[in-house]
Amino acid sequence: MDLLAPLGPKYVGLPRALGRRIEAVGRRGKFILMPLSGGLELVAHLGMTGVIALNVPSERQAAYLRVRVRLSGEAPNVLYFLDPRRFGRFLVVERGCYETLPTLAALGPEPLEPEFTEAAFGAALARSRMPVKAYLLSQRPVAGVGNIYADEALWRARVHPLTPSLALQPSQVANLHRAVREVLSAALAAQGTTLSDYRTVRGQPGEYAKELDAYGRGGQPCARCGATLERTVVAQRGTTYCPVCQKLPRRRGPRSQSRIHAPANEGRR
Ligand SMILES: [Zn+2]
Repeated sequence: MDLLAPLGPKYVGLPRALGRRIEAVGRRGKFILMPLSGGLELVAHLGMTGVIALNVPSERQAAYLRVRVRLSGEAPNVLYFLDPRRFGRFLVVERGCYETLPTLAALGPEPLEPEFTEAAFGAALARSRMPVKAYLLSQRPVAGVGNIYADEALWRARVHPLTPSLALQPSQVANLHRAVREVLSAALAAQGTTLSDYRTVRGQPGEYAKELDAYGRGGQPCARCGATLERTVVAQRGTTYCPVCQKLPRRRGPRSQSRIHAPANEGRR
């Protein structure tokens, strides 16, 4: 295993993987998990633009090569981890010990597994006042929903991205639960979304970009109602939504209406 990236918290423990066997390849949320012999685990996160590739990098890509993993056995037997924007991670930990990876440790259920039920999703959403898009991006209510798929799921469910999570109506929870599953299933079937750099492990672009209804379409007409999609920023991420289909719920009336007024002279000397 050759580390070509500068040493730092995103690249830890790689020499420990030397000579170990990769026992399996799994995934949780956006983390790739490879249990290694000897009780260790290789954890990779592609960040925004990272790629694990079997192909020898082109000259242009070579500048982005961070890790090279040489495997025993027949070719192709080298994995290349390329990361143009440096948000990726590649590290070796004791198996299942994720203290240095708090997002992984707190990850919600897998969206396409049976444990991601509408009831569990509703209970998780009810625990947070965060804007629903920000909470989805935290990966806690459900794993694997990044910026693109959050915009798509919220558009499908007709939920405004700034709606406080705990203010979602039961029908909105049901719609959003269904939308998250639909969007991620469709994206998986299309092998993901390529906007610029993303490639599958075989070097192919993902095809889901053609199916996007909201993400990146600010200023274009909504495919459902024809209104112009608007752009805003939620949790520091560009966010596109339809101002007509995705209404922000009106705040409740001023609290003073229900407050019990003290008699005017009470408490005065
Ligand atoms: Zn619309």
